[in-house]
Amino acid sequence: MSAPYPVPNADNAPFWAGCAGGELRLQRCTPCGAWRHHPRPMCPECGSTKFEWARASGRGIVHTFTIVHGPTLPAFEERLPYNVIAVALDEGVYMVSNLVDCPPEEIRIGLPVEVVFERLTDTIALPKFRRR
Ligand code: ZN
Repeated sequence: MSAPYPVPNADNAPFWAGCAGGELRLQRCTPCGAWRHHPRPMCPECGSTKFEWARASGRGIVHTFTIVHGPTLPAFEERLPYNVIAVALDEGVYMVSNLVDCPPEEIRIGLPVEVVFERLTDTIALPKFRRR
C-alpha cells in the first residue's frame, strides 16, 4: 500500500502548483500583509477575503518534532521510523513536514532548515525540509 497523495482543491490548488514548479507559495493577505498557511479563504488576522499567492523564502527553523516508531497507518509502515517536524517559517507561519537527509539523533528544536521538493507525479510534489 502506498501513501496517499494530496488532492488539490479550490483553496489549495495554487499551493500545490507552486510545489510542482519548485516554489513554496503561501497566501498573503493584501490589506494587512499577514501570511497564512494552510490555505483558506479568509485572513485570521483581519477577516479579509482579499489575498495574493506569494513566493515564500522556504526557510525556517524546526519548531518541534517527533520520531514515529509506530504503530502507524499501513501506508506508512515501510517508512518506520520516520520524523515529523513542525517548521516555523521565516514568514511567521507553521508547516508540518518531514526533515530529509538528517539522522534522527541530529534533529533538534531550532535547527535551521530550507524547503526541498519530493516529486511524486508530474503535478504533485511534497514540500520537505533539509538542514541549511
Ligand atoms: Zn489580513
